Amino acid sequence: MIPHVPMVIGQAQFPTRPENVLSSWYVQHQETQPPNCFLARKVFFFQKSHPTMKLAELSSPAIDLLSRDIPVVVPIAAIEQHGQHLPVWTDSLLLGEITDRVERNLKEKILVTPLMWLGNSDHHLDFCGTLSASGRTYLDILNDLVENLIFHGFKRIVLLNGHGGNDVPAKQAIFEVRQRHRARKDLLLLMTTYWGLGTEPWKDDPTIEQRDMGHACEWETSMVLAIRPDLVVDHKNVPVVEPGNAFRTGYRAWTTKDRSSIGHIGWPHLASKEKGELLLNAFAVDVERWLARVVAWNGSSWDG
Ligand SMILES: [Zn+2]
Repeated sequence: MIPHVPMVIGQAQFPTRPENVLSSWYVQHQETQPPNCFLARKVFFFQKSHPTMKLAELSSPAIDLLSRDIPVVVPIAAIEQHGQHLPVWTDSLLLGEITDRVERNLKEKILVTPLMWLGNSDHHLDFCGTLSASGRTYLDILNDLVENLIFHGFKRIVLLNGHGGNDVPAKQAIFEVRQRHRARKDLLLLMTTYWGLGTEPWKDDPTIEQRDMGHACEWETSMVLAIRPDLVVDHKNVPVVEPGNAFRTGYRAWTTKDRSSIGHIGWPHLASKEKGELLLNAFAVDVERWLARVVAWNGSSWDG
């Protein structure tokens, strides 16, 4: 059955939010016929002709038609130095590629906001070209973003991270939002980093040496080689910069120059575009599986 949405001609077209009008398409994917309502039809045909659901490409009324149970994914990245051989756009480029791959598979099950390229990169500021929101500013920005989405009624909000410096403030931001809305039992506020979801790519390609993300390293250089080789400069001839062991398993605060005079950390000379494609695919599969759990969440339980 297609629910009927009353329209008011000459006034606001949706005096009340048509809850669940489109949820059968966007969440359950079972509808094949367009609905009766004019605006809902527009959204229906838009969705049919677009492979993904990008918030930036939808009109405000179309967004207002969406089920508020749809997970909203906010990709958060950075623009910062990546050594002498990779562009400052690296983190945004890679997270954007992974997000695109996930979107193509999950289609209308998720709503994706534009990637936020300004991240918390103060530790890289000694290197020219790095742009950064300081930790407290970044906390405020993420708080506001999540609050905006909650204000519009969305309940499942995911910060999908692609930069190490965003890890702590992103977790802190959603933690703070949760405290402000402590009476709500229907909110699902999540954060994850794409390389932290458990994939072990070296099991599929034993020539992959690294076991964790470095910086402008074997992994990142490989992935950029796979999608934008024109942006990689002479990576075979940059020296190895060992990650080291700074008081593990404790945490030592750092600036990049504490660890690397050249800017990268790891083994970029081992990179290849074949490794890059394997890594991109592995990370996209990981993110997709994890987001499928967010889609499947029952709306109230702690587990998911
Ligand atoms: Zn990076």
